[in-house]
Amino acid sequence: MKFETLAIHSGREPDPTTGALVTPLYQTSTFVFQDVGVTRGYDYSRTANPTRKALEDCIAALEGGKAGFAFSSGMAAETTIMHLLKAGDHVISGDDVYGGTYRLFERVMKDFGLEFTFLRMDDRRRIERAIRPNTTMIWIETPSNPLLNIVDIEMVVDIARRHELLTVADNTFATPYFLRPIEYGVDLVVHSTTKYLNGHCDVIGGAVVTTTDKLTERVQFLLNAMGTCASPFDCWLVLRGIKTLAVRMMQHEENAAQVATYLEKHPKVKRVLYPGLKSHPGHEIAMRQMGGFGGIVSFEMEGGIEATSSFLRNLKVFSLAESLGGLDSLVEHPATMSHASMPEDVRRSVGITDSLIRLSVGLENIDDLIEDLEQALEHT
Ligand SMILES: *Cc1c(COP(=O)(O)O)cnc(C)c1O
Repeated sequence: MKFETLAIHSGREPDPTTGALVTPLYQTSTFVFQDVGVTRGYDYSRTANPTRKALEDCIAALEGGKAGFAFSSGMAAETTIMHLLKAGDHVISGDDVYGGTYRLFERVMKDFGLEFTFLRMDDRRRIERAIRPNTTMIWIETPSNPLLNIVDIEMVVDIARRHELLTVADNTFATPYFLRPIEYGVDLVVHSTTKYLNGHCDVIGGAVVTTTDKLTERVQFLLNAMGTCASPFDCWLVLRGIKTLAVRMMQHEENAAQVATYLEKHPKVKRVLYPGLKSHPGHEIAMRQMGGFGGIVSFEMEGGIEATSSFLRNLKVFSLAESLGGLDSLVEHPATMSHASMPEDVRRSVGITDSLIRLSVGLENIDDLIEDLEQALEHT
């Protein structure tokens, strides 16, 4: 079956007791045993829950993986994955990953004896030089947040396979509609379902998709042992959101492309970062690797922090808020918001300047979006 059909049908079977078409919300903590030692497949909702299972199967099908797991947040999914490792292991990560990912690695996991090297993932030799005897994992995010750098997944997987390293791809930005990292050989895919998969700005959630029985068994063990699972209601909402993922992503992309083209021509805009633009350094790889370029557009203003602040203040349709990937257009200032947890010198060295702005282009009418940008730019 094709993507759109899988998004609507996967993980779902008519409810055995009532025939309900839509997966019911099994809002229960526990399940009654049929007999001593005999269950109907479920015993306790931390371990497994039918609503969660429906979502997990659906995400696994869309990513083309072995099994899916739903977590209480993207960070819970990431924290759980990091527990596949042990003290002394070394991880190579992209240097412009999500701010919370950077914080988890640097300020939490480091204290448990893990080592990290952050680098730009665009050069094979640079990645190979960073490999140590204790390296066990490579973590990538493409397109990255907020700079929308594109990582050549096949190149990274090739390096990882030569050195027997586990590869993890954060596929939050592209979603499986535009990119399926497992097709390029990635071992684990992670998501913040908070973003496009749910798509309606009303859930915090995460997901992991595995590719082998061994990883499936281990992630299931960790999810249950650590208790990082998603609630049935949140799973129900994300499952509902995913049904429209294809049409939403198409429209997000169409709107984003128009916003990027508009901004690129504007005299008050220094540079626009959108993988769909020919001027984007990762455009060629994105063309080859992705089915589309997504709905996030970042750009740098002329005129520094003053002009940037007044632009942010004057927007009316775009709301100044963290997060992305929902129906609502949002604008975000990485230096003071999503990436404030990154030290200033690190932020600067990776290219997150004070005048960088990230737009999550929503599903409003494009004329209203462009008009809003126009009037806010005029007032700077
Ligand atoms: C938001 C986000 C996360 C973290 O997810 P939460 O659901 O907020 O915990 C991780 N990676 C990326 C790329 C994100 O955008």
